Amino acid sequence: MGNDGNTRAVVLGGSLGGLFAARVCADVYDEVVIVDRDLLVGVREPRRGCPQGRHISGLLTRGQRAIESMYPGITEELFADGVPKGDLAGTVRWYVRGKRLKQRNADMLCVGASRPMLEYHVRRRTEALGNVRFAERHDILGLEATPDRRKITGVRVQNLDADNGVEVIEADLVVDATGRGSRTPIWLEDLGYQRVKEDRKKIGLGYVTQHYRLRNDPYRGDLSINGVAWPKLPRGILFAKTDGDRAEMTTYGILGDHPPTDQAGLFEFIRSLGIPEIYEAVTQAEPLEDPVRFSFPTTLRRRYEDMDRFPDGLLVVGDAVTTFNPVYAGGMTVAALSALTIREHLHSGAAPQPLDYFRDLARNVIDPPWQMTHNVDLGFPGVEGKRPLSLKFEQAFMALVQTAAARDSRVTAGYMRVAGQVEHPSTLMKPKFVLRVLLAAAGLTKPSPDRPRGRTAETAGQSRVSVS
Ligand SMILES: Cc1cc2nc3c(=O)[nH]c(=O)nc-3n(C[C@H](O)[C@H](O)[C@H](O)COP(=O)(O)OP(=O)(O)OC[C@H]3O[C@@H](n4cnc5c(N)ncnc54)[C@H](O)[C@@H]3O)c2cc1C
Repeated sequence: MGNDGNTRAVVLGGSLGGLFAARVCADVYDEVVIVDRDLLVGVREPRRGCPQGRHISGLLTRGQRAIESMYPGITEELFADGVPKGDLAGTVRWYVRGKRLKQRNADMLCVGASRPMLEYHVRRRTEALGNVRFAERHDILGLEATPDRRKITGVRVQNLDADNGVEVIEADLVVDATGRGSRTPIWLEDLGYQRVKEDRKKIGLGYVTQHYRLRNDPYRGDLSINGVAWPKLPRGILFAKTDGDRAEMTTYGILGDHPPTDQAGLFEFIRSLGIPEIYEAVTQAEPLEDPVRFSFPTTLRRRYEDMDRFPDGLLVVGDAVTTFNPVYAGGMTVAALSALTIREHLHSGAAPQPLDYFRDLARNVIDPPWQMTHNVDLGFPGVEGKRPLSLKFEQAFMALVQTAAARDSRVTAGYMRVAGQVEHPSTLMKPKFVLRVLLAAAGLTKPSPDRPRGRTAETAGQSRVSVS
């Protein structure tokens, strides 16, 4: 509680995880303060505290729906600002296991926003709430607690401009959204709590990204052309139209097989992916900057839900809890769903019980995509981990789904509804779907036509392509 008797939530980190958390806290607390070491307000460019802003950021349909529920109308605002749209199964051209999947609109809206564009709009709407204040250019130094250390009462911050002064911002609730480098595990240990268990998986992922002004149109009505890494070729690519009439290309390799950043080497890496329309488009395009690299050695999950004791007045969200393999594009969606989980706990009337929140978050938000993406990663022989018989069965079935999707667009639609986190992975095991997969994989069904059709034909081919 502040000196004036008002209630206050302080959110540590003003990236997407922090903005979503601030959004739900603003409904309940008189004041919400977002602390970040970067300048945030009005920023439309990639920023230092969010290096992933230079790379492609796919927003899964479940995440888009969660964001829309927190900020009604934001999706249309993005489209009005020049963001192209599509359908994950209908106007995204997927190459999986070396084969092109059949396309079919499946009511799986894709928002082709660059990361800075999405963050700008979410920040603008958060700012407009009226009771949210930004403490920009402030470094977060540590937590303040009651003498018995059972409750967090505020946060110590240092102003990076002016006099470098240190101050304490008192809080009824602190939400840590400082991302993968979160220091909550250390702060808790310093306060006498056990060290949170961490799961890490080495994936040795390397990203390289470049933006282009295109001189030909490889999309022909599609939003994006994506090649997925698989054991025979552990390299992939995402090549999408994005805001500013640009094409955004991120290519990647796992287990150390990283794309180079020199232009000729990068084009050669792209050629090796065997998707000629991408190679031709980028080699004929005007590059808008030098290629940019990002290394991502391990995934990371902090198991707060397994702790016996946790102080009141503190929650953790987003990448500070789990950083997923970014290739599966789940981080922003999980950050949005973390905020919705906080909202449920805030609306119970009392202050949220941290361990109840963490257990709900783990069970309902993190476990399904964590398990699914972990299993896909284990399909690469070089990724360490246990491979029980059940996993081998699941991987063999997924290979059948992917083979079938290259023939039957309804299989693509079902597969993408799971990949987009709109449906639970178990829906792929429904008998009717399994039968469809088996028949299509065995070549016993008529191949679907090449052009997309389906439930939301409205989204097909609507995004503009700019060819100079
Ligand atoms: C290369 C890459 C590609 C990705 N691609 C995708 C994708 O395609 N789709 C997707 O959904 N997700 C993707 N993600 C994940 C996604 O970016 C995150 O899940 C999302 O940004 C939510 O993270 P966050 O807000 O919890 O943390 P972050 O985005 O890491 O933000 C942390 C914030 O805390 C601030 N901060 C940290 N420490 C301090 C401190 N001590 N003092 C002050 N401020 C501090 C930082 O400045 C920053 O603003 C990708 C991630 C990476 C790394």
